[in-house]
Amino acid sequence: CGIVGYIGHREAYPIVIKGLQRLEYRGYDSAGIALYDGTNIKLSKTKGKVSDLKERLESEISTDGTLGIGHTRWATHGVPNDVNSHPHYSNSGDLVIIHNGIIENYDSLKKELIKRGYTFKSDTDTEVLVNLIEDVKKNENIKLGKAVQIALNQVVGAFAIAVFDKNKPNEIVVARLGSPLAIGIGEDEFFIASDASPFIEYTKNAIYLEDEEMAIIRRGKKIKVRKIKDDSLVDPYIQELQL
Ligand code: GLU
Repeated sequence: CGIVGYIGHREAYPIVIKGLQRLEYRGYDSAGIALYDGTNIKLSKTKGKVSDLKERLESEISTDGTLGIGHTRWATHGVPNDVNSHPHYSNSGDLVIIHNGIIENYDSLKKELIKRGYTFKSDTDTEVLVNLIEDVKKNENIKLGKAVQIALNQVVGAFAIAVFDKNKPNEIVVARLGSPLAIGIGEDEFFIASDASPFIEYTKNAIYLEDEEMAIIRRGKKIKVRKIKDDSLVDPYIQELQL
């Protein structure tokens, strides 16, 4: 399974789809992509191969957007099918998430969210996480990064996630615990991936997030890395990748 993301000045689609193909070696049963052009989110996902997803997307009209996230899934909660594939929307349709890993306490979190009126389309633990983030964000009236942090502190399990908010077209929030996550740093552009292979042709500079770290990635801004647990700012080590 794997995750890929891009935010910058280029079209995200070719980078993300090629990145997913580079991560195929990790194994997966489904694949999906969300692209955001600042107005419309285009989300497509399917059980099966990245090549099936590619065919589906390229037969459609547009694959525009300079923000994109992509996922290959190895199902842990919910059978491999189109609905359970990632990305997943939150109930409002504002938040979009991809996730590798397992939310072990998803069942109790889901029951709480159902009590508060949330509904679920899929059987995944991931859809619980994205709605938990939404719930925290709404209740506390806070920014996405803060909401992700508070939500992750309620989660037991493992994750590499990337999430964006329709109302914030210049930002992707990522976090990791137990699943790998690398961030490629280019000129006014950022790449996200499970390993550096999807972005090595674009940049040699990368940050490997440590466990229990999250990063707020904003177009044209300096990346901010924090500890999920205590909110302390981390000075990230930017590694030079060797070919
Ligand atoms: N637990 C999530 C699911 O089953 C993510 C699985 C993965 O790592 O791809 O959808």
